[in-house]
Amino acid sequence: MTRRKQVYEGEAKVMFEGPEPGTLVQYFKDDATAFNAQKRGTITGKGVINNRISEFLMTRLAEIGIPTHFVRRLNMREQLVRQVEIIPIEVVVRNVVAGSLAQRLGMAEGTALPRSIVEYYYKSDKLGDPMVSEEHITCFGWASTHDLDDIMQMSLRINDFLSGLFLGIGIKLIDFKLEFGRLYDEHDQMRIVLADEISPDNCRLWDVKTNEKLDKDRFRRDLGKVEEAYQEVARRLGILPEMAAGDVKGTPTVQ
Ligand code: 5GP
Repeated sequence: MTRRKQVYEGEAKVMFEGPEPGTLVQYFKDDATAFNAQKRGTITGKGVINNRISEFLMTRLAEIGIPTHFVRRLNMREQLVRQVEIIPIEVVVRNVVAGSLAQRLGMAEGTALPRSIVEYYYKSDKLGDPMVSEEHITCFGWASTHDLDDIMQMSLRINDFLSGLFLGIGIKLIDFKLEFGRLYDEHDQMRIVLADEISPDNCRLWDVKTNEKLDKDRFRRDLGKVEEAYQEVARRLGILPEMAAGDVKGTPTVQ
């Protein structure tokens, strides 16, 4: 049994050193947290499903020319990714009022926005990911104006593409969070790539007809049927049938 070196542990994922330099193994856990980790729980099989969903969406995005850190899925809970320098900004794209936007501005959840909104949050658990502006980002050197142009363009393109993809399976993409990283090639040329994951953990997905929530809000708001919602998204994307019934159960550790 080989022991791999853990390089990072987050709420929902663990990163291990990869088989080659410049790669990492991203392991998807069943752990779920909300409200800056004040609420904790387990969503059985979430790691397996999110690994599949993220693989599927990152692959489709790569096909339309969005550079991503994703290389390939390794097994039920792990994927090989390129090691990137994570930009400490969470990019949120919104199409419909929900969540913190509804709360902050006192607007009704479900109100369609006349155009998509892109927001930035500074990645800091200690500070509870405060919202920041482009001015803060460039002033503190988290990203340059040029980096932000790339990030904004990619985020809007991802939004257009994913909105259409989800609509095709009867799901409205309400909002989602992205993370980006810097990838350096052998000539030390840098490009910005999509990193982290795209899954019901960081998207709001509502059924087109019923507005039923098919995402992590079911956990955050104690709505029940959390596992079923994640499975439903995977089923509609056509990636659930590949999984055997027992596969979504938790696997204890990685070797
Ligand atoms: P809100 O700002 O309304 O809480 O979140 C907007 C969108 O970004 C939601 O789809 C939410 O799931 C996602 N999001 C924002 N911050 C985080 C975060 O720290 N972790 C995860 N997993 N998703 C986030």
